[in-house]
Amino acid sequence: MTAVGIDLGTTYSVMASVDAAGRPAVVANGLGRLTTPSVVCFEAPGSVLVGEAAKNAMPVLPDRTVALIKRDMGTDRLLYFDDDEHTPESVSALILKAVTSALTARGEVVRAVVTVPAYFGVREREATQEACLLAGLEVLELVSEPVAAAIHYGLTGLDADRTVLVYDLGGGTFDATVMVTGRYARVVATDGDTELGGADWDRRLVGFLLGRFLDLTGLDPGDDEAFVAELTLTAEDVKKDLSTATTRVVPMRHGGATASVRVNREEFEEITRDLVERTLDCVRRLLSAAADKGVTRVDQVLLVGGSSRMPMIAAALGELLGCPIALHDPDFAVAKGAALRAAELAGAGVGRRAVPSASVVSRGFGLLVHDSHDDPSGLGKLVQHVIHRNDPLPVTGNDLTVATILDGQRSVKIEVYEQAGTTESPAPGDNRRILSGELTGLPAKLPAGSPIDIRFELGLDGRLAISATEPRSRARLTIEACIEGVLDNADRLRLGKVIGGLAVRQ
Ligand code: AMP
Repeated sequence: MTAVGIDLGTTYSVMASVDAAGRPAVVANGLGRLTTPSVVCFEAPGSVLVGEAAKNAMPVLPDRTVALIKRDMGTDRLLYFDDDEHTPESVSALILKAVTSALTARGEVVRAVVTVPAYFGVREREATQEACLLAGLEVLELVSEPVAAAIHYGLTGLDADRTVLVYDLGGGTFDATVMVTGRYARVVATDGDTELGGADWDRRLVGFLLGRFLDLTGLDPGDDEAFVAELTLTAEDVKKDLSTATTRVVPMRHGGATASVRVNREEFEEITRDLVERTLDCVRRLLSAAADKGVTRVDQVLLVGGSSRMPMIAAALGELLGCPIALHDPDFAVAKGAALRAAELAGAGVGRRAVPSASVVSRGFGLLVHDSHDDPSGLGKLVQHVIHRNDPLPVTGNDLTVATILDGQRSVKIEVYEQAGTTESPAPGDNRRILSGELTGLPAKLPAGSPIDIRFELGLDGRLAISATEPRSRARLTIEACIEGVLDNADRLRLGKVIGGLAVRQ
């Protein structure tokens, strides 16, 4: 039985564990590599490539290769390969299998703390948990990535309080979190953009290189899918080099023409300036959310995610915040922090930096109610949020009292919604319905306007429980966990079979 931390990333995934001395270290995958690309290629019936091999197959088999699947977690997206139906959960399970393969090949049962972005909602967390189960892992806990990073940076378990901003720019997602660390870590506020990451910087560089190639040769290979896919891999390497070097020359060959395209760091920074600015917009929004909660200063910035190695990031944050910026092992910070947490939970005696992982709610939750104030007809409906984004977890009992509408009403429909956008909005269209039920057995002759007490509870594991009670008769309804769009048992068995029937190669 091994306790590990797993950073299930958008572009790369990493596993770490803690040694006997309490130090976290990355555990290599079956190929001996420290990172596993989060890419799956369904190369042929019954056979899938995962990780490096899948990434390499992408230019050759673009229609059979799946990347950036983390962006689809919690959605109903279905993928079909060779008559098998796949889901974001089953594709993620294949990645998890590859990441843990070095341990499972030895017949070990893997117990894991798996990290999720702080802004993941209930559906996305449930989907991640599901992926772990499909991969045969025992989940110790799902931990927010910034919390894991703060554990790695040694900013938890200290006597003095410090306000820390975790800036995490990965391959495909960006998020920023303000936390107060000290003896305990407390997340104050979080913000992010699921559609922004290192891959966007790669695409900009591809566009730049294609443009220069056209200038130099008069040829535009932009429509050649395989060429562009290959160039995208090159661009990622060039981008990484430009984090240390100031200039690079890229040899390009297409349609019998060749060109050596020079790109320097300044040009790269110029063509991606708006992407940095988009992250700063999130940071500004985050700072204002933190200020609303009384946290008005930032003592320290922690950089996380491989893309935060780009010098333009620290430069922009230094200018905006004027406080120390730490960059230490950004690719592995989350996995190592998760490993420390896993060791603690598994009782492996890691005490130095281990603290309870504080979390906040990533989205608002509320009840669909009739808008009797602004619309006396009672026909208009709105979502009244009961749990709010950035409320500390667990929420043990947020109450709301609603009223019956009709005389003699015998039942009340309870419809629970989750905030869908970045801000809380009462319009039902700005929310997603996640749970519903009906409180029945109300006493006959109950007059209109009789109170119904609603209680919302949300556990650290993301399980949402809503109870509705009619106080006179004590009629009660409790609904929980049966969130729409999440796999049921039959799906799990079916997907488990599909995955089990595939030969997985790295
Ligand atoms: P992650 O999701 O945290 O694994 O982030 C991986 C992303 O970081 C990918 O987009 C990589 O291209 C990027 N990355 C890794 N190393 C560097 C580097 N030295 N400079 C710039 N980007 C990097």
